[in-house]
Amino acid sequence: MQDYEYLLSSLEKVKGIGSKTIQLFFKKKIKTIFDLLWHLPISKIETSKTTDIKNLQIGKDQSIKIIPIKYNFPRIRNLPNRVNCLSSNEKIDCVFFNSYEGYIKKILPINKEVIVYGKIGFYKEKYQITNPKIVSESEDGNIKDLKNYSLTEGLTITKYNKIIEEVLKNIPNLKEWHSKNLIEKFDNVSWKQSIEKIHNFDYEKLKNSKYLRRLIFDEILANFLISSQIRLKIKKIKKKKKIFNKNIKFKYLKKLKFELTNDQKNAIADIENDLNSKQRMFRLIQGDVGSGKTIVSLIAALSSIKSGYQVALMVPTEILAKQHYNFSSNFFSSDIKIDLLSSKTDYLNKKKILKNLEDNKINLIIGTHSLFQKKIKFKKLGLIIIDEQHKFGVNQRKELSDKGGNDCDVLVMSATPIPRTMMMTIYGDMDVTLIKEKPKNRKEIKTYSKLDSKIEEVISFAKKEILNGGQVFWVCPLIEKSKKLDQQSAVEKNIFLQKYFNKRVGLIHGSMKKEDKNNVLNDFLNKKIDVLVSTTVIEVGIDFPKANVIVIENANKYGLSQLHQLRGRVGRGDRKSFCILIFKSHLSENAKKRINILKNSNDGFEISEHDMKLRGYGDILGFKQSGIKKFKLADPILNKDLFDLAEKEIKKIEKNSSKLGDYYKLLKLYDRVSIINDII
Ligand code: ADP
Ligand code: MG
Repeated sequence: MQDYEYLLSSLEKVKGIGSKTIQLFFKKKIKTIFDLLWHLPISKIETSKTTDIKNLQIGKDQSIKIIPIKYNFPRIRNLPNRVNCLSSNEKIDCVFFNSYEGYIKKILPINKEVIVYGKIGFYKEKYQITNPKIVSESEDGNIKDLKNYSLTEGLTITKYNKIIEEVLKNIPNLKEWHSKNLIEKFDNVSWKQSIEKIHNFDYEKLKNSKYLRRLIFDEILANFLISSQIRLKIKKIKKKKKIFNKNIKFKYLKKLKFELTNDQKNAIADIENDLNSKQRMFRLIQGDVGSGKTIVSLIAALSSIKSGYQVALMVPTEILAKQHYNFSSNFFSSDIKIDLLSSKTDYLNKKKILKNLEDNKINLIIGTHSLFQKKIKFKKLGLIIIDEQHKFGVNQRKELSDKGGNDCDVLVMSATPIPRTMMMTIYGDMDVTLIKEKPKNRKEIKTYSKLDSKIEEVISFAKKEILNGGQVFWVCPLIEKSKKLDQQSAVEKNIFLQKYFNKRVGLIHGSMKKEDKNNVLNDFLNKKIDVLVSTTVIEVGIDFPKANVIVIENANKYGLSQLHQLRGRVGRGDRKSFCILIFKSHLSENAKKRINILKNSNDGFEISEHDMKLRGYGDILGFKQSGIKKFKLADPILNKDLFDLAEKEIKKIEKNSSKLGDYYKLLKLYDRVSIINDII
């Protein structure tokens, strides 16, 4: 057996674990010995120092000797099960939420002294311990201090400690996977030493210790390594170079009323290189809302078409598809055949489009997800462009790149800036080009905060802007009024605002039918209404050039990045634009900080860094849905230096593939190899 295979074997291998215990762990997704080791202790239980009932401290975690006297199982919903106990002849209760009676009886037998551990409370003139952990039946009086783990429901903490001890005893010495240079940065501590230390930890001391840092680094590296392997594999696929004249684009660009920004030009250059190379393109263009990604993608389409290929442009919504269709129909001359395919396309038309795609009579097809149905066949698909697809995870991206065959390049565009440290984590499988620069004609969006009692002022302001030809978005957190949540609802706001704006107010929200939504959005686009009340569903990517005011109710309900995204719905034309954040009563310090960040910066990348610092990385926009495994130990904020180090190391490994062999073990342990095999 390979040494690491012990770690990957199932828990049956551990002495003292029966099938019941295995089930318990299984529920917590702990299947292998390695998984178990990953579950770190949260604190130390000093059982040798039980506390006398007179010295209990409310709110603290303490251990105490008790004798159960009587069970109280009320069998009424929401009422906890209680066990009345005595300690030095004084009353104390053990309280259980969500625990079976049988389990309670087993761990707290009447009249038998036990030591329990947990948070001390005080209720109706009595001490109580909620969901206590049973340390041990104190028979021999000889008790060791224990480590406290979070998942001991159904298992005594003593038993849990025994299991961990048994596992730790058998940890193999693994051959070091890091290079000498690198491991020196962690004082040469091995994986085994680190794991052992962490499970026997001296809590506070270990937080910044080399042991923990080494484990964190391993986790980050395993994560990056898999992405980088996927990227390299995609690059190995040879495709036919696309041959085109780079000057043709200027004929089209001349038609625009504006000059491209330098970042747009750079992005185009990156793409041209990719198209013109033998390696397949798998590139992400990341740019803030309004940074002008559409035009970049259309130039990419042009180059591919001029080299004899077809292009598919996929967007999340029908309106956006229509908007891209209109824009590209104007932008390209009639020698480029463009068509639009959506769920609205009628049967006959659809049939014709499918035939034309197969006969290479359409050069550019624009549509929603419907573009990727099996029955759609291209004669010669050379480029897939995906716009505004934040929810695509690694697997879906890979699937897409396979769709078009080997000669098909893939270009993904996203308007959700993410912090730099997260780039590799989320998009490590792609080449990335950033568009940071905003078009020069952009007027800054002024951001204000207002108390909700001043709503009349906001309304008069909006009226004035509408008189000057503007339009207003009005965003509420809820669809309908809620009894529980004191927040504004779009439905009510719509009714409320009608009288102020001559009934030229529309409403859209997530539970409306697609068709109704589209009608309202079209009314807003065509200026049949002046105010659009909505939840945050306002479709991404659509250009509303006349809209110049966005009012956001209960603004403290949103994260910074989300507020910035919402704000980006306005300010796309050359009109001066405003974002008004509405708050209830007085602002907390945190809220003030957030408003100041928004007022002072219009840079989505910078804002995403602040957002991550304020809310933690798990919550940053789009990340949750991206399907990426959450880190167990690593934290992109606290461990930024390790993320940077891992990125550098990955570059070295990419250059020298013989190093990969050593890392295979690491990947195997972190369950990443199966991902590689699945994906590639
Ligand atoms: P996004 O990056 O959010 O997709 P778009 O491509 O929709 O942005 O561009 C937003 C608006 O800016 C469009 O009306 C587009 O025509 C315009 N635009 C794009 N590039 C420039 C530029 N370099 N200068 C001025 N306006 C531009
Ligand atoms: Mg866009």
